[in-house]
Amino acid sequence: MINVAVEIADDLYFFTKKKYHDKNFNISFEGGRSVKDLVESIGIPHVEIGRVRQDGEFVGVNSLIVEDCCLRIDAPEPGLPANNIPLRFILDVHLGRLAEYLRMLGFDADYSNDRDDAELASLASGCEQGGAAPGGILLSCDRGLLMRRIITAGMLIRSRNPEQQIVEVLRRFNLSGRVRPFSRCFNCGGLLENAGGLDDLSGDEYSRIPDGVRIWCREYTRCTRCGQLYWEGGHFIGMREKVRKMLDASTG
Ligand SMILES: [Zn+2]
Repeated sequence: MINVAVEIADDLYFFTKKKYHDKNFNISFEGGRSVKDLVESIGIPHVEIGRVRQDGEFVGVNSLIVEDCCLRIDAPEPGLPANNIPLRFILDVHLGRLAEYLRMLGFDADYSNDRDDAELASLASGCEQGGAAPGGILLSCDRGLLMRRIITAGMLIRSRNPEQQIVEVLRRFNLSGRVRPFSRCFNCGGLLENAGGLDDLSGDEYSRIPDGVRIWCREYTRCTRCGQLYWEGGHFIGMREKVRKMLDASTG
């Protein structure tokens, strides 16, 4: 029988099952068990833990737990994940509004409302690109999905309110200095390019702009992926205010 004295950081109580709602508790089990298995049995997805110390020594999530040890589990420090994981978010089907907000702030947010868990895990782990490189950071409301072994970077979205969700993400990955508002398409997340004025647009593009806009607007932008055209109409004032509120809340 292996006995482990477990200590978890305050920030991780959100995840733990009721019977582990103590700062310190003991767990006993038979046979070999990795750090990952143990923290997930407590309720914490492995992507939600920071440094782990076993009797004071740092260990990885896949390390086997030794007999009669003390295990200290920290929450992740704010910042981007290690291991050269690209700054690209893959979002589950419940997080469409969060994807829009991330795009509004200029982040690469891959979202579709018809993906199952296997597809999301495959995209986030990079398997879709032949496993050559990690695919990105998985944002999900489903902790079971985040416990899949192939997921190396992710975050459980706690709030159901998209305004709170974007603040959670900005804080967790320390993104406020990387924000580039209105540099991506709201529809597909593609990067925007300067499309020039009315004379520079194609006939089809020209016809898609309402008469009332053509009268006053001199500058347009275009999505490099889906071709959507954008211009800074009156609604931009409201969106700029929204961006300011998101950033204030994330740094406040
Ligand atoms: Zn687009």
